Amino acid sequence: MHHRPKKRFGQNFLHDPVVIGKIVKVIAAKPGDHLVEIGPGQAALTIPLLQAVGEMDAIEIDRDLAPLIQDACAPHGILHLHNVDALTFDIHELRRDQRPLRIVGNLPYNISTPILFHLLDYRDDIQDMHFMLQKEVVERMAADPGSKTYGRLSVMLQAYCKVERLFDIGPGAFKPAPKVDSSIVRLTPLPEKVVGIADPQAFAELVRRAFSQRRKTLRNNLKGMLSGEQIKALGVDPGVRPETLDVSAFKRLASATIKIP
Ligand code: SAM
Repeated sequence: MHHRPKKRFGQNFLHDPVVIGKIVKVIAAKPGDHLVEIGPGQAALTIPLLQAVGEMDAIEIDRDLAPLIQDACAPHGILHLHNVDALTFDIHELRRDQRPLRIVGNLPYNISTPILFHLLDYRDDIQDMHFMLQKEVVERMAADPGSKTYGRLSVMLQAYCKVERLFDIGPGAFKPAPKVDSSIVRLTPLPEKVVGIADPQAFAELVRRAFSQRRKTLRNNLKGMLSGEQIKALGVDPGVRPETLDVSAFKRLASATIKIP
């Protein structure tokens, strides 16, 4: 069956067997793993993953692809295909037993950041996540404090997950070829004890405010939330720019904004 790629769903399908093999190898799926693929497309990754685990879930928004995916996967194992939008889907529903979820996906570029934020809400259900994303997005996710690309996305993800940039993939591995390079990234949720964030909403709001104007100082961006004195008392210089602070400094600042009822 021929499928015409849809731009609105960010459909760039992997076709290079060497690249597919490399991605499957770093995911290292074993029998018994509970895999969930977001956006199986034409099943380029789904088939080898299903061969490794025997049974898995996949979430695909494009209804036209469903019969193609089912037919391609049937000889290789049991695929539970959910024809829904991954951005609003309750991932927790997929838990069948004690096994945490291993999420994988060659994510559409237009929705990569909202999907990452959505999945952060389910981190208790997740063992790890492997994604292919635009290289520039992966650079921001893994950036260190002080670097040009360090910002809200880096802080939010690194506060909750270990972020590992694995390798890059050129546009030639896809059909149609995208205009940009891609990278593979592994996210491993950190134990709640290590995360140590009492109020995730307060943390998210503080980080959002801190980076609202990159060129301004922390004191300026946090006006109305924390005073210069309060910032100083937490061991942070209120005169610095937000991108110079490490994740633990953001956690300390956020904990000071929590209102005790
Ligand atoms: N995994 C395939 C591959 O590597 O060749 C396809 C990757 S393609 C970049 C992205 C896939 O995600 C497409 O199949 C697209 O239809 C699907 N998709 C786009 N938006 C989605 C959403 N909100 N929820 C679930 N799937 C989505």
